[in-house]
Amino acid sequence: WKSLIRVVVSGAAGMISNHLLFKLASGEVFGPDQPIALRLLGSERSYQALEGVAMELEDSLYPLLREVSIGVNPYDVFEDAEWALLVGAKPRGPGMERAALLDINGQIFAEQGKALNAVASRSVKVMVVGNPCNTNALICLKNAPNIPAKNFHALTRLDENRAKCQLALKAGVFYDKVSNVTIWGNHSTTQVPDFVNAKINGVPVKKVITDTKWLEQEFTERVQKRGGVLIQKWGRSSAASTAVSIVDGIRSLITPTPEGDWFSSGVYTNGNPYGIAEDIVFSMPCRSKGDGDYELVKDVVIDDFLRERLKKTEAELIAEKRCVAHLTGE
Ligand code: NDP
Repeated sequence: WKSLIRVVVSGAAGMISNHLLFKLASGEVFGPDQPIALRLLGSERSYQALEGVAMELEDSLYPLLREVSIGVNPYDVFEDAEWALLVGAKPRGPGMERAALLDINGQIFAEQGKALNAVASRSVKVMVVGNPCNTNALICLKNAPNIPAKNFHALTRLDENRAKCQLALKAGVFYDKVSNVTIWGNHSTTQVPDFVNAKINGVPVKKVITDTKWLEQEFTERVQKRGGVLIQKWGRSSAASTAVSIVDGIRSLITPTPEGDWFSSGVYTNGNPYGIAEDIVFSMPCRSKGDGDYELVKDVVIDDFLRERLKKTEAELIAEKRCVAHLTGE
């Protein structure tokens, strides 16, 4: 048996966590020989719900689940944590300005960054899911100067999965034939799903799907707006598929990336090879050796179509960063 791994999930009483926690406890994420301690971080307001979730986890008798604990103080819950999956955040209320949401959620992530810095394992890997996830991840890493900025991720894997699904449907192939899909930029409607470098059965997508208008307009928009359409139809935001994509994101970091392929993650831009502004969190193509770390893929082609759109999503992230300057110490 491996030694116990300590995993924190924030927003543990929420919808995404209700799927995610049971996947973590079952062993499908970290493997069948990896005992796990789950630490559930919630808020005072939903403390009872948190107790309920812990009861359900215990009653499931997962053999790998060795400890379940709950708390509302990040300085307690993050102690020695090796993974922090930061799902908890306030949803955008009716009529709420984006700047107000950035501020409310930014406060949460500033506090959690400080707590991680103080008590978590020095090699903790942090995945920020709560929106606006790129800027929340930036705030978090800025408040945790003793943890490498490289250890922080903003979840854009759901967008990648959505893009793969649309390409597979259009080409009439099973979705495991679609590879090399990058989501560039912000987890928002300015994100850039990259069909230029993507492949189907190892062949460039543009050679398989020759309808360029569909790729440039319909595909791009469909992926960008998929989250919003789902909320309209279902009355709530995606929970199960988000949990699946968090699992995919973790597994991509702890298993070697298949030869020639890559995965998308929102990561810190310092030293990036694409000319993207430094000091923001931007989704880019990554590869991993399976050790929890990643490197950026260098040989992707950024053509004029992509470049123009990358500028737009980059500008949005720079504007978001300006709104939260009071939380990043700048
Ligand atoms: P829910 O509202 O169902 O759950 C959020 C939970 O977080 C609530 O239980 C809430 O408790 C709790 N919470 C609020 N503040 C804190 C805090 N400071 N510390 C710990 N917990 C806290 O939301 P979902 O699970 O549906 O979504 C969670 C987040 O994920 C949202 O921000 C959403 O926008 C984002 N998301 C991101 C996606 C991505 O691809 N990156 C995709 C889909 C969603 P309380 O009762 O106190 O409010």
